[in-house]
Amino acid sequence: MSVHHGTPITIGEKIKWSKHIYSEFKTRLLSDRRLITILNDLREAIAESRRYLELSGISRICAVCDKEEGGSCCGKGIEKRYSPTVLLINLLLGAHLPEKSNNKNSCLFLTPRGCSLIARDTICINYICKKIEQSVPPETLYKLREKEGTELEKLFLLNEYINTLLMDFI
Ligand code: SF4
Ligand code: SF4
Repeated sequence: MSVHHGTPITIGEKIKWSKHIYSEFKTRLLSDRRLITILNDLREAIAESRRYLELSGISRICAVCDKEEGGSCCGKGIEKRYSPTVLLINLLLGAHLPEKSNNKNSCLFLTPRGCSLIARDTICINYICKKIEQSVPPETLYKLREKEGTELEKLFLLNEYINTLLMDFI
């Protein structure tokens, strides 16, 4: 991000920056073939991880935890760990970024329907709580890690590539 002048620092600035860049450059970004290829790979890798979360029963454990124990692990302040480029990637994937928090004690991106991001970063993807650790077999968690590893690898590639493209645009 240091490549862009006026580097956004707060989460509000990062969201504003990503929305501005998206509206200014989305046509140019989405006409780049390599970008489209990596974006589609990322979309597929995310879908694969999500399918596995459903299949392994982890999604259900989290849904029950959320509803019955009020225990979402999406704590306040996690949104600050997101880079402007990952937010831009989310816009390119069709995500809607909230500007105001739904709940002061939670991450800004948490909505009543769950996380508003499509591409999530390492801090969110790698998190596994005690409850999951104790109720899901290690081999299932290992398979999940593999799928999430692919997702993070594609996200990293796309992040780097977009930053390179933006150096020419801005
Ligand atoms: S990861 Fe753990 S704490 Fe978070 S929602 Fe799922 S079960 Fe609950
Ligand atoms: S999964 Fe989404 S809502 Fe939860 S902490 Fe991460 S970005 Fe925030």
